[in-house]
Amino acid sequence: MERVLLIRYGEIHLKGLNRPYFERALLSRIEAALDGMHADVQKQQGRIFVRGLNDADMERAVDNMTRVFGVHSISPAVAVEKDWKSVCDAAFSLMEERIQGKLQTSFKVFARRSDKTFPMNSDTIAKELGHEILERFPEKLYVDIHDPKIKVCVEIRERAFVYLDEIMGAGGMPTGTAGRAALLISGGIDSPVAGYMLARRGVELSAVHFYSYPYTSVRARDKVVELSALVARYAGRIRLHLVPFTEIQMTIYEKCPQKETTVLMRRLMMKIAERIAREDGAQALITGEALGQVASQTMESLCVTDDAVQMPVFRPLIGFDKDDIVAIAKKIGTFETSILPYEDCCTVFVPQHPVTKPKLSQLRESEAAVDFSAMIDKAVADTEIVEVG
Ligand code: ATP
Ligand code: MG
Repeated sequence: MERVLLIRYGEIHLKGLNRPYFERALLSRIEAALDGMHADVQKQQGRIFVRGLNDADMERAVDNMTRVFGVHSISPAVAVEKDWKSVCDAAFSLMEERIQGKLQTSFKVFARRSDKTFPMNSDTIAKELGHEILERFPEKLYVDIHDPKIKVCVEIRERAFVYLDEIMGAGGMPTGTAGRAALLISGGIDSPVAGYMLARRGVELSAVHFYSYPYTSVRARDKVVELSALVARYAGRIRLHLVPFTEIQMTIYEKCPQKETTVLMRRLMMKIAERIAREDGAQALITGEALGQVASQTMESLCVTDDAVQMPVFRPLIGFDKDDIVAIAKKIGTFETSILPYEDCCTVFVPQHPVTKPKLSQLRESEAAVDFSAMIDKAVADTEIVEVG
């Protein structure tokens, strides 16, 4: 009896002529996630099979698979020859493991026959196997066709596959199939989620973080490195750019109208991020903004921010409530790190009464009144790069 992982993939099925491209990308992402486990990964008739895993690696392999974008679901399965006795034995052995130490519980058999040369049809397989299992464990099991506690699934394909679980994957599209974008990552809750959401659509991430020593601490910086690493568990390797922002921030604070400082700071962040993004082969920027969340996220502020750059700015959280964002942050494991209490450079110099409806012409004027170009060049030149993931 061979243990395998049976992997289903979702949306790629919708792709027409490009489908092989997406399938190849998915296969290579799966191989990368199983690196060092001696796994053999192969596509067969619309499914991907992982063979050759050691028992000791099985759990970690399944866990890694749940973070590969493009994977719809995973079933740890037993693969056997397509004869009835082997199928029954496989089901018995999985059942025996599952009900060990349990009181009586319910089950149902689900069967699917893609190989039409197999002598029994799906209904017969389900009925007969249900019967066999009941006979084998009469005291432990009963059939419940409406709400079974254990689902015994049989698929007759190139071989016969028997499994009890279908574990949901992360969905989306394989990383690297949708170009590259630069995520503006703060230490907050929102931006890591925004990066995750675009990565889930196949986008490869680069990241840009602005810090203001000594107003922000080394721990705040470490937190961003850690958050990037958590996103990289899904998105793959991320090149994180750490940009010194103190000089620009102090200059804005000293020379520009106080109520405009936040929006001006955001415009300058966007400009620098765009430069770094270009150099890093990214075609778009990503932020964690949600409409109306704070003064800098009103429609007027967002328009003024967008005006600072040529690149499209993706804001996947634009229509989300904070609760929705928190739920995703918890699901992907970034929440606990995001709520660590270190200062972000945005929170250091918050004006008491920020403009909520900034006028573009006015903001352009305030910005033009100060020559930031040398400061921008210096910030880009002094940017430190950390590879995470
Ligand atoms: P977050 O939870 O992501 O910090 P937020 O609700 O606190 O978001 P802001 O602080 O206004 O909102 O930031 C809005 C967006 O601007 C962030 O989601 C992020 O994309 C970007 N951003 C903010 N601060 C920084 C920073 N220090 N470095 C890089 N990007 C930043
Ligand atoms: Mg923030």
